[in-house]
Amino acid sequence: MKTLSYDIVIIGSGAGGGTVAKELAPLCKKGVRIALLEWGGRFRDQDNSRSEVEMAQKYYFESGGVQNTSQNMTFALAKAVGGSTTVYTGTSLVLPDEILEKKWAIPGLNSSNLRPRFQKYLRENNVHLLDKALINENNQLFYNACTKLGLKPSQFPVNVKNCQGLGTCNLGCAVHAKQGTHVVQIPMAEKDGVELVPFCRVDRIEENQVMATVLPAEHGLSPSPWPCGEYCIRAKKIVLCAGAIHTPALMLKSFGPYHQALGKYFTCHPALILVAQHDHEINNTFGHPKSYYCEDFMHSHSVLLETCMYFPFTLAKNLVGFGSEVDELMSDFNRLQMILVLIMDHARKENGICLDREGRPVVHYRFTREDICAFVKGIKESARIFFAAGAKRIHAPASAKFFIQAEDAPRIDELINEKEFKLGKMSIASAHLMGGCRMGENPAAAVTDSWGRVYGKKDLYVADASLFPNSSGVNPYLTIMALADRVAEAVTQDLRP
Ligand SMILES: Cc1cc2nc3c(=O)[nH]c(=O)nc-3n(C[C@H](O)[C@H](O)[C@H](O)COP(=O)(O)OP(=O)(O)OC[C@H]3O[C@@H](n4cnc5c(N)ncnc54)[C@H](O)[C@@H]3O)c2cc1C
Repeated sequence: MKTLSYDIVIIGSGAGGGTVAKELAPLCKKGVRIALLEWGGRFRDQDNSRSEVEMAQKYYFESGGVQNTSQNMTFALAKAVGGSTTVYTGTSLVLPDEILEKKWAIPGLNSSNLRPRFQKYLRENNVHLLDKALINENNQLFYNACTKLGLKPSQFPVNVKNCQGLGTCNLGCAVHAKQGTHVVQIPMAEKDGVELVPFCRVDRIEENQVMATVLPAEHGLSPSPWPCGEYCIRAKKIVLCAGAIHTPALMLKSFGPYHQALGKYFTCHPALILVAQHDHEINNTFGHPKSYYCEDFMHSHSVLLETCMYFPFTLAKNLVGFGSEVDELMSDFNRLQMILVLIMDHARKENGICLDREGRPVVHYRFTREDICAFVKGIKESARIFFAAGAKRIHAPASAKFFIQAEDAPRIDELINEKEFKLGKMSIASAHLMGGCRMGENPAAAVTDSWGRVYGKKDLYVADASLFPNSSGVNPYLTIMALADRVAEAVTQDLRP
């Protein structure tokens, strides 16, 4: 085993880790040594074939299909330099004050402290509204239908630069147009002297040291600058940014379940992909896939509707049923419109991360009656939007029939119902993983303070989505960056003699 020494070691390079690295990087000029350890490799434009199955295998943990223990939901999370920001869609929303003040309610964490941090990343990551001329038909149909129904759709700000409309954002952008941490923050950090170590998997943390293994490079990517093998890396400060599954898992593996909130209160905005068939071709695959959302049912039913467009394999996985009906729908791919139904779940102690016998993370997550009602409401409202957009028929998973025809539109409330919503039969997925190391001001109830300092563990910090005390109710990456910015400030302060 080789032993190395750094002042600061950051574990994981996603929304949290990339931000912390960039914020701490100016310290390198004062002689502070910083290493950014990342399990995955660094993808260049030429490494992306845009082939769905191939890129899913290369970018995602378990090809994007990590399952919960009940096997009724899958989690999508990336393993790469840039973490899940390499595969995200780049929709960029600020945490609403209402969530911060009422749902999170953490003393010391307030809007006036967070707002300038949000502003910084809105600027740095080029967040803006796409020109209307660049919005494709799949998105436009949603907007027009919502307006026709008296709903109030909003346009998503996105963070692309020189986007070529390839539409394959979730397979990693082949032209690096999305401004993830791998494009913006990590190169800035490296320029200032942070050492990035890809293919370095952290296996355990101890007081002021990290035990890690450098693995051989995969997928033809550049290898790690450190030779393969086992390492003990000493550090004055350790910042955990391995994401909402792997950060709690690393803590559990290293220290055991020493805190009653560790690994608990996991939330994930569970989601369903819905699809409708038009009788003519629509432009659905070219252009940014996600332009609009509709919050009209948020307060009443905790459900959010977003536009989306997924690729054939992902779509097929999401269809309930099999045989000729699925075949027929898939063959009509160019006529399909899609909507994503996301439910805004609430943190519950029973939902969380544990370790299996081999020390690997497993996620326990059970749906409540309230969640199912939210899904059914979302499916019904999406069905109305699809028909208002002119769809000839829709595939509605909580319906007795595979298809609901346009002439049956007046019977939506009867045909789509909770009785037909069968967990395990539905393909529920999640890409917004949050919680597990919740922050708070009460050390008995929270794992870290509101600055990411882990209670009872010297020199250890958390700076990723696992800090969330409850779901964010909006797409989370900007909130993770704003919190990581605070953690970097705390580390800088604590490093001072
Ligand atoms: C398909 C998809 C689409 C999304 N779209 C959006 C969107 O449009 N807008 C939005 O706001 N959010 C979106 N998200 C969510 C957003 O990307 C994540 O919330 C965010 O990236 C999480 O940040 P994080 O730092 O917590 O973890 P991650 O970004 O997942 O980074 C964690 C990193 O830690 C590494 N790691 C894990 N374990 C170890 C270990 N033991 N040793 C070393 N490294 C380790 C991982 O390889 C990974 O690179 C999307 C996510 C997905 C998957």
